[in-house]
Amino acid sequence: MQAAIAAGRGAADITLIAVSKVQPAERVAAILGQGQRVFGENRVQEAAGRWPAFQADHADIILHLIGPLQTNKARQAVGMFAAIHTLDRLRLAEVLARLAQERGTSPDLFVQVNTGAEPQKAGVLPDDTDALVAAARAMDLPVVGLMCIPPAEDDPAPHFAMLAAMAARNGLGGLSMGMSGDFETAIAHGATHVRVGSAIFGERVAP
Ligand SMILES: *Cc1c(COP(=O)(O)O)cnc(C)c1O
Repeated sequence: MQAAIAAGRGAADITLIAVSKVQPAERVAAILGQGQRVFGENRVQEAAGRWPAFQADHADIILHLIGPLQTNKARQAVGMFAAIHTLDRLRLAEVLARLAQERGTSPDLFVQVNTGAEPQKAGVLPDDTDALVAAARAMDLPVVGLMCIPPAEDDPAPHFAMLAAMAARNGLGGLSMGMSGDFETAIAHGATHVRVGSAIFGERVAP
């Protein structure tokens, strides 16, 4: 909220995704009790195990998938998540497009960009991003923005600036960037969705 004001942006322009992965149910219940309704999970299986019980009490919970999606989990994911932030390859786009046709609806999609070109990290490489966005759009998929996770050891600002420029040249309004350690910087660079875990819930306990 303060970061939005500092950046001269309205808090209503920024969706705070509370990243609840690995957090114990009591902590999730406490944050729900404070009125938070948008949550992020990075594993389909974990989300499927915990959220139906909460959703029975709160019909307005909105779930975002922020972790890698395997094609064999795609059907389960599209039934559960309002948005998927990790579209990063053509094959996954094809599977999601088939599911969208079958269901007549699709979660909002963010294309994940590996802005640091890190070999171990998911995401399409910057040079391949425009082509993947175009391909997904050609399949009538609702691509709403781009997402990135900057390399842990880098200054995140140039990565956020790169992602914002790539989104702008593709006519995409959504920017999913910023975590506990860098969400102020991300908001200053135009983030529309910040994914904040430990700053909301406290440190994650080892599973
Ligand atoms: C875990 C995770 C976050 C939240 O990380 P924090 O540093 O706890 O805020 C954000 N985005 C993704 C993709 C994550 O996996």
